[in-house]
Amino acid sequence: MPAAISVTRRSGETLAAAMKRCPFCCGDIPTEARKCRECGEWVVGTSGGLAAAGLRLLGVIWAGVTVMAALGLWYVGQGVRRWAWMHAVDQQITPQLVDLALYTLIAVVVLKGLMLSVGLGIMARLSPRRPRWWT
Ligand SMILES: [Zn+2]
Repeated sequence: MPAAISVTRRSGETLAAAMKRCPFCCGDIPTEARKCRECGEWVVGTSGGLAAAGLRLLGVIWAGVTVMAALGLWYVGQGVRRWAWMHAVDQQITPQLVDLALYTLIAVVVLKGLMLSVGLGIMARLSPRRPRWWT
């Protein structure tokens, strides 16, 4: 926060107009101002609100779920790979083929999951910012 500077207007007459400088456009604005009248920027702490916080949290949780799903798929895939190898279901189904299918599946799950997480984060950023009611 910039140091509040009091401006003395006219000779000797100190108005109750304590001014501060907008950190965005360097215009002088009243100390009590929460939004700059010159450039329209908030000059107090802002928050996207509860909805944005919820979306962001959901994005983080979803990223965690995605990682867990990928690990689970990998674990199950190892079982399938071993089983297909031991039981020789089909000569065409080699461990390499199972691996290829498994890693493709995991890549798709991870990419889609992360896309949704990033999307949720972007949506959270889109919500309009308002002055925080907490400090
Ligand atoms: Zn400004």
